[in-house]
Amino acid sequence: MAGEIIEKIAALKRQRRAVILAHNYQIGEVQDIADFTGDSLGLSIEAAKTDAETIVFCGVRFMAETAAILSPEKTVLLPEAMAGCPMADMIDAKQLAELKKRRPAALVVCYVNTTAEVKALSDYCCTSSNALQLVRSLPADREIIFVPDRNLGQYIVDRTGREMILWPGYCLTHARITAEDVAKARATYPDAVVMSHPECNSEVRACSDELLSTGQMLKFAAGSARRRFIVVTEIGIIHSLKKANPGKEFIPVSDRAVCPNMKKITLEKVLWSLQDMQYRVTVPEDIRVRARLALDRMLEVIPK
Ligand code: SF4
Repeated sequence: MAGEIIEKIAALKRQRRAVILAHNYQIGEVQDIADFTGDSLGLSIEAAKTDAETIVFCGVRFMAETAAILSPEKTVLLPEAMAGCPMADMIDAKQLAELKKRRPAALVVCYVNTTAEVKALSDYCCTSSNALQLVRSLPADREIIFVPDRNLGQYIVDRTGREMILWPGYCLTHARITAEDVAKARATYPDAVVMSHPECNSEVRACSDELLSTGQMLKFAAGSARRRFIVVTEIGIIHSLKKANPGKEFIPVSDRAVCPNMKKITLEKVLWSLQDMQYRVTVPEDIRVRARLALDRMLEVIPK
């Protein structure tokens, strides 16, 4: 059954001149049929470099929007219309505009997990991989507003010493992971390295060995001489980690670290998406151009 669906996807992909992208948090079956797997910005950049006419983004809405911002000439499809990111939806353009009015001199840095409208109102975009470098590059005398993740924001404040105005957003999936989960996993696997995502809360971050984005986790695990890793982020990444490091062991810190939105996409939905060319994600041109500026300013400071 899965074999048949995979064949149909491959045939339609050729017909539609499509490229399939899968975020690291997608289910394993979807990651396996993708042309590229990775983090949201990296995927959008890869897709922009191809001559594909269609991008099927297996991820959540803001990721498909980012692909549309970088590839306006391509058709961008999200296989599940309701796959959103609750953290990205914790701030909208109106709320950011009000905050900017209260702090007119501040620079606005938005995490890539934001809507296109919020990116359009921001000076810089950043990812969890480059956030520290980006904030360090900003003029020391400027106030900084950081949206929407208070955990990633606090991590940046702790590491850079730059005070920032933090929006109180957070990831519901990472919020389910507790310091007790980490302590239990450590007690069971005392020789393991604890790799945590900076979207985790401060207690979890404080008891971790390494704070890494998903892309950095993949690099760290591949380069490390250690054999066992406790993975403190959404469990989908375990699939890529195991595939890339067959001799190493990766233990999810908690089986509750599952993003229900990321898991909405299945092989069937990828097939239907290509069959019916749905669900198309577009960004109005005026917003796209301004959002693109925030991404370009980031890429000027930190080329991908
Ligand atoms: S894991 Fe968190 S940040 Fe990522 S899509 Fe799900 S809710 Fe959003």
